[in-house]
Amino acid sequence: MLARSVVGRTFRHTTVREARLRRSVTSELASALAGRRIERIGRRAKYLLIEVGGGQVMLVHLGMSGSLTHRGHGFDPVPFDSRHDHIEFALDDGSVLVYNDPRRFGLIKVVARADLDNVTELKYLGPEPLGHEFSTGYLWKATRGRTAAIKNLLMDQRIVAGVGNIYASEVLFRARVRPTRRGGKVTRDEAERIVTATKEVLREAIGSRGTTFRSYRDSRGQPGKFAQLLRVYDREGKPCRRCNTPIRAIVLGQRSSYYCPRCQK
Ligand code: ZN
Repeated sequence: MLARSVVGRTFRHTTVREARLRRSVTSELASALAGRRIERIGRRAKYLLIEVGGGQVMLVHLGMSGSLTHRGHGFDPVPFDSRHDHIEFALDDGSVLVYNDPRRFGLIKVVARADLDNVTELKYLGPEPLGHEFSTGYLWKATRGRTAAIKNLLMDQRIVAGVGNIYASEVLFRARVRPTRRGGKVTRDEAERIVTATKEVLREAIGSRGTTFRSYRDSRGQPGKFAQLLRVYDREGKPCRRCNTPIRAIVLGQRSSYYCPRCQK
């Protein structure tokens, strides 16, 4: 895991090959990090927080296709296309931290730790899906009166942080709720099943993540064991693993969504 291997290392120089991410990487990035020791790695939803000396934090969002990998001696670069190695952070032991992002939807910036709560990106985030705050009661309240599809609400970072498109389809399959159901029409029992399934799916995803901190690819051919755990995502026309009915695909909020018309009401 990234945390264990980079904590204690010091940033030497930073090479920005491509600054045009979702928001441009500023020219101050390199100087803000130079000579700073990595003290702690934290996470807030889809943001990776790399705390460094001098009370600074590097905020990293991996977008839809990004990864941040610690590459040292013996690192296998094969799964990564070097054309998308946009930022390289050289560390004091000769290893490199590499930000690779084919679709360039990510974000990297350095902020003062004291200002973290006021950073726009983090300010309006809902509770962490694995935390106690994300409970049946919470989801129940958050969806009352909402006419938006439950899947879109589940992917709304203001309601719950960090549930992506793939996860949302998988969660709703497990909870037996159709993705198109209006949020306000979700029953309390269903809210409970959705919360339980969300935690289950995310724990499994984390467990199969391996050694690279990366986002889950929305493209086909997504690597990793998590792909093998998918029950509906990207399985259009294939038999439901529970009832054998062919899985259907629809577009919701411009994202592909998959469900079983028989199991999910
Ligand atoms: Zn089914």
